[in-house]
Amino acid sequence: MKANIVLLGPPGSGKGTQGEMLSEELGYAKLSTGDMLREAVRNKTPLGLEAKAYMDGGGLVPNDLIIGLMKEKIASLAPGTGAIFDGFPRTVEQADSLGEQIDVDLALNLDVADGEIVKRLTFRRSCSKCNAVYHLEYNPPKRDGLCDKCGSALYQRDDDMEETVRNRLKVYREKTLPLIEYYESKGRLVTIEGVGDIAGIFAKVKKAVE
Ligand code: ADP
Ligand code: ADP
Ligand code: ZN
Repeated sequence: MKANIVLLGPPGSGKGTQGEMLSEELGYAKLSTGDMLREAVRNKTPLGLEAKAYMDGGGLVPNDLIIGLMKEKIASLAPGTGAIFDGFPRTVEQADSLGEQIDVDLALNLDVADGEIVKRLTFRRSCSKCNAVYHLEYNPPKRDGLCDKCGSALYQRDDDMEETVRNRLKVYREKTLPLIEYYESKGRLVTIEGVGDIAGIFAKVKKAVE
C-alpha cells in the first residue's frame, strides 16, 4: 500500500538525504517546501520575494504562504500515490492543514544532536538544479564542486552560515518540536537515531516504512 510519510527532525538531520533515497527506492513523490521556496526565490516570483527575508534570517515563512503553496501541490498528487513530505509541516497549524487533506501514515523523526547539526550544515553543499545534497567531509561529490547526479555546480546555501544555523535550531525547538508529540499522540511517530553512516540510517528508515 502507498503511504504518506512526513519527515521530521531538526535542520540538517538528514531529511533531504534520506527522503531522496526513499523516494527513489519506493517511487514516491517527494515534496520539499525548502526546495520549492528556494526555486521561487531564484525565479523572483511573488512568493519568493516575500519568503526570502524570512529564510535568510533562519526564521519560518508565514503559515498562510506555506499552506497556500502546499494545498495545490497536495491536491495535484495522483490519487493513491505515496508521498514524502520533507520540511513540511513545521508548525502545528501546518500539520492540521495537511491532516485535512490527507492521512499521514508515518512521521519519521530523525534524531540528531545540535553539535553535529552545526558541523553538517556549515559543510553542506547543494545542487541548485536537482536539489541533491552533499557534505564536504561526510558525503563528498565524486568531482570537486560538481553534482554526481546532474553535473551542475554545487553551492553553499546562504542560510547555512553558523549564526543562521543556530537561529534555525532555536526556531525548530519553538515551532516544530511540538509536532513530535502531535504525531506521537496519533500513534504515527517513529523516531530513528539519525547519526552514523547514511546507508545504515536508510536501512532503519526502510524498516520503519515497511
Ligand atoms: P533544512 O533542510 O535545513 O531543514 P529547508 O530547506 O527545509 O531547511 O528550509 C529552508 C528554509 O525555508 C527554512 O529555514 C524556512 O525559512 C523555510 N521553510 C521551509 N519549509 C518551511 C515550512 N514548512 N514552513 C515555514 N518555512 C519553511
Ligand atoms: P536536512 O534536509 O534535514 O536539512 P540534509 O539531508 O540536507 O538534512 O543533510 C544535511 C547535511 O548533512 C548534508 O551536508 C548531508 O550531506 C549531511 N548528512 C546527511 N546525513 C548524514 C549522516 N548520516 N552523517 C553525516 N552527514 C550527513
Ligand atoms: Zn544535481
